[in-house]
Amino acid sequence: MNYIILGAPASGKGTQAELLSKKLNIPHIASGIILRENINNKTELGLKVEAILNRGDLVSDDIVIDLIKNRLEQGDCKDGYILDGFPRTIAQAEALDGITKIDKVIDIVVNDDVAVSRITNRRMCKSCGNPYHLEFNPSKLEGVCDKCNGELYLREDDKEEVVKDRLKVYHDQTEPLKEYYKEKIITIDGIPSIKQVTESIFKNLQI
Ligand code: AMP
Repeated sequence: MNYIILGAPASGKGTQAELLSKKLNIPHIASGIILRENINNKTELGLKVEAILNRGDLVSDDIVIDLIKNRLEQGDCKDGYILDGFPRTIAQAEALDGITKIDKVIDIVVNDDVAVSRITNRRMCKSCGNPYHLEFNPSKLEGVCDKCNGELYLREDDKEEVVKDRLKVYHDQTEPLKEYYKEKIITIDGIPSIKQVTESIFKNLQI
């Protein structure tokens, strides 16, 4: 099964994609995590996109399409995958249609006020990208990732002044994908607890 998880910043899509990936034993592919890895490793791509990510804009379609195309060609994707953060524009969705077949799109819905309040409480692992919430999903040891012992930090683009721009980008460029995928979409209320949202996704997917 090939899935896409859609949702505004801090809708919980990264967290839910990771849980779904464990449950189904298929890879969780997050374009934002791959881009930030490149930034941390100061690769050519990382240096090119760093300022764009920090101000909350979208990286060009060509760059992310190439990135995801290469990733989907890897052997671990043969039984399926969960895409998180890609596609983010109609052009990306059209390119994806030329590469693979998507079975289901899971849309996690939260309103902007919830997104803003969650984002400012979000901390992310610098090494593996795993997300935490200071109150609702804290790491066992403060400031340290449960999965890889990496350092937790507040992302540059999670600072309040950038978050409003990211939400605008989401509404303008990514939300139209709901219509694009209307035949395949499953709509999930993202406001309840992490556990409740997971249950609702699993129930909808009958897994
Ligand atoms: P995320 O971790 O999904 O919130 O992504 C963080 C940032 O990475 C976004 O704000 C964009 O700057 C960039 N990014 C991630 N995925 C994409 C994409 N599919 N298209 C364009 N930019 C992206």
